Amino acid sequence: MLPGRMMDFPLTLTHFLERARTYYPRSEIVSRNPDKSMHRYTYADFVRRTCQLMNALKRLGVKPGDRVATLSWNHFRHLEAYFGIPSMGAVVHTLNLRLHPNDLGYIARHAEDTVVLVDRSLWPLFEKFAASVPSLKHVIVIPDAGPAPEGTLDYEALLAAESPEFELPKLDEDSAAMLCYTSGTTGNPKGVLFSHRSIVLHTLVCCMRDLTGIGEADSVLPVVPMFHAAAWGLPFDAILTGARVVFPGPHLDPPSLLDLMAEEKVTIAGGVPTIWLGILALLDQDPKKWDLSAMRTMLIGGSAAPPSLIDGFRQRHGLEVTHAWGMTELNPVGTMAKVKQELRHADAATQLGAQASQGFALPFVETRVVSESGQKLPWDGATMGELEVRGPWVASSYFSNEGQDRFTSDGWFKTGDVVTMDSDGYVRICDRSKDVIKSGGEWISSVALENALMSHPAVLEAAVFAGRHPRWDERPLAAVVLKPGQTATKEELAAHLSKQFAKFWLPDDYLFVPQVPRTSTGKFLKTKLREDYGDHLMKNPASAAG
Ligand code: AMP
Repeated sequence: MLPGRMMDFPLTLTHFLERARTYYPRSEIVSRNPDKSMHRYTYADFVRRTCQLMNALKRLGVKPGDRVATLSWNHFRHLEAYFGIPSMGAVVHTLNLRLHPNDLGYIARHAEDTVVLVDRSLWPLFEKFAASVPSLKHVIVIPDAGPAPEGTLDYEALLAAESPEFELPKLDEDSAAMLCYTSGTTGNPKGVLFSHRSIVLHTLVCCMRDLTGIGEADSVLPVVPMFHAAAWGLPFDAILTGARVVFPGPHLDPPSLLDLMAEEKVTIAGGVPTIWLGILALLDQDPKKWDLSAMRTMLIGGSAAPPSLIDGFRQRHGLEVTHAWGMTELNPVGTMAKVKQELRHADAATQLGAQASQGFALPFVETRVVSESGQKLPWDGATMGELEVRGPWVASSYFSNEGQDRFTSDGWFKTGDVVTMDSDGYVRICDRSKDVIKSGGEWISSVALENALMSHPAVLEAAVFAGRHPRWDERPLAAVVLKPGQTATKEELAAHLSKQFAKFWLPDDYLFVPQVPRTSTGKFLKTKLREDYGDHLMKNPASAAG
């Protein structure tokens, strides 16, 4: 081999800070406070305060590799932690405030967090698990809703005592920068340790024109929480490119988000389908109230975006959606549903089919589909198998080495998602492997049925899950939430589905429920549905397919 003669320059987050202060000192970061007032400052202020935070943490004894946790909404101080903690060589560990205090205690103990930054508004939650984390040496309170409680350190007072200069260290690009735990609907949550290098490469690729295309002209609104999968990397994409950042704080209800998008002229926003379903319903009620003409695209991911949602935004409101798939284990984006040029001349249904798929792999992410016995399956758009991935921002193991069975001996990560892949590489998620419905040995995709149900005009949300069946082992059952004031009968829903699916795919019964149970990250909680209604067909044999 003839070695190349280029510099060995590390890919680290410190460079983001240098760039922000040198080239974009006047770019703006806007946050909505809990009392709905707005906080505004510039990148120059952001970098200055981030340096003060690093000095403060150093004074408290934080060393390279130490885990410093955050329990925070999306706002400017959380952003300071996102950059300050890793830029001094420590690891920012985002705690998911929607988890049960017992789980939070488990995760903070497992991570051995030594310092935690807590929003004052989340203090009642923190109090419930703080005592169960013996590694915690310092508690820093972000005064977003009143002063710090006694015995804790006040974030603002700490920063005020420090110099705004900090000599950024030369870090190893492979060193850990961020620790995120999976949502763990089964078993204990597992830690994923992003490196500086994985975050930098993920950012560079995500900002490509054919992907998010984030640039200086954008106003980026991460609705997706910073405590879940690094808010899909949006804060990093924004800061690297000098974009304007808009944080919603704790106000994630549709009217507040629509107000924010209109008032701050947001050009790109990212959130899970539930958020967008709520927003679409409100826009449908009052299409003229909000001026969203600045919006370039709305990123949807985290669970499947129904085609009716994507189409509804486009047809009724002229708004574009970009559907993406990812996982905490992928830093987190893996595929994005861009319509390839050659499909631009296809009919509307084909284009919507591509847009509503989970898309094809990002550069440097490689994908394959394998059978239960580990055979590689064809990319024919029909054969279902487990998606496996590899790439520079895919985890190579979990923190503390649990879950080794998710990593294959030939270097791939088993996603646990059951998919089909077509000849163009578009991935379509059918299910999580543990949610797939096995009826008489045939696999039925709950996601396909859900998408079709959600295209019915009376249906707000639908989750399809496996019910036990005396003859077929499992049969699909649908939990359906109707739109306020709307009605639909089981027979109507069955007739709606039968236009698209073979008879054996149709749910045996439809359960009308006030809401679908959700995980801490907004996904349908099918374990709960199976727990509550799994025996429905055993108890009501009249509903069960013969
Ligand atoms: P998390 O690590 O909490 O982000 O969860 C990752 C999982 O969310 C994936 O393995 C998928 O099952 C699911 N997921 C993420 N994005 C999508 C999407 N666009 N469509 C369907 N499922 C998705």
